[in-house]
Amino acid sequence: MSSFLSDPVDSEAILADIRAVVEIESPSRHAAGVNRVLEAIQSQFASTGAVCKREKTTDTLGDILRVRCDPARGEGGILVLSHMDTVHPVGTLGGKLPFRRDGDRVYGPGIYDMKGGLMLAIAAFRRIAQAGRSTKLPITFLFTSDEELSSLASRNIIEREARGKQYVLVTEPARDGGKIVTARKGVGAFVIRTKGKPAHAGRDPGQGRNAITAIAEIVLAIEDMQDAARGITTNVGLITGGTARNTVAEECAIEVDLRFCDMTSASEMEAKIKALKSSRPGIATTVTGKITRPPFERERGVELIFAKAAAIAKEIGFALVTAPRVGGGSDGDFTVAMGIATLDGLGVDGDGAHTNYEHMLFSSIEPRTRLLQGLMERLE
Ligand SMILES: [Zn+2]
Repeated sequence: MSSFLSDPVDSEAILADIRAVVEIESPSRHAAGVNRVLEAIQSQFASTGAVCKREKTTDTLGDILRVRCDPARGEGGILVLSHMDTVHPVGTLGGKLPFRRDGDRVYGPGIYDMKGGLMLAIAAFRRIAQAGRSTKLPITFLFTSDEELSSLASRNIIEREARGKQYVLVTEPARDGGKIVTARKGVGAFVIRTKGKPAHAGRDPGQGRNAITAIAEIVLAIEDMQDAARGITTNVGLITGGTARNTVAEECAIEVDLRFCDMTSASEMEAKIKALKSSRPGIATTVTGKITRPPFERERGVELIFAKAAAIAKEIGFALVTAPRVGGGSDGDFTVAMGIATLDGLGVDGDGAHTNYEHMLFSSIEPRTRLLQGLMERLE
């Protein structure tokens, strides 16, 4: 029997390590918090022989950590991709979502997306290192700091580290019932601004050109662009505008989220959104933004690595199935677009990503740690 199957997994100890990083709040724009998570992660690699390198991104974001587990073996191999940031603002831990355990469910900010999964991958590697075994391929970990902001600052670093690798393992959470993600929608992000003319709403409303009214029409037009059959969704998620109740609003802005399944839909929708324009006189419309993530399409390389993972899962004792195409973007999208065999959704099982009921399942620690370890040991 091979090692990832036979060595006992101490799920309680792994949960304690997960708890330690969950209890450091690290929303993407809180660089100090993200960096404290980074330091906690770095200490996990002490005495494994791994070489850690910390890299700065921007002044406002946390750093990125790269860990070469076997620096003597050079380039190539497996890249394990994780993010340390969460969407939960500071105060969530002491307020709406404290760390707590309720039966099999363990709650906490970012515990499912993705501090749980990140720690499973580290645990899997430490089990290999502590047993003095070596993997067939060299392993590199990359922990990024702005995934929840579409990875604008880390994308180049992810692509640089992925170049030349045979495989990428992404520790994003597993989907309903431990499923693996092999196809995923792409994402676009846009800001639309209308500018009219201010006026006193009571005294001379006819002089004004209301930017809010103008954008209201555009909001409905965006809603109408949805196409369920083609998997195209649009969402106006933010709106800001106006200065006072009794003033005709001069300016208004909305932020628009776009999701799509293929690049043809992406360019078509991008063109449609960029062409949006108020039909009202005296209103200037500007549209900025772009496609931020390509779709993650199930292709041959992904099929092969999935088949290997499914075989390992079968030995461990569970059936690995793929989740249908999901709407959430991930850093795995970049590496799939580079043609690298990428498996996403290898993290903990649970539910409620980005909500106040976010939780992982304690029972998923053991099989998912074994799966990650099996992939690290077997991939060649
Ligand atoms: Zn995530």
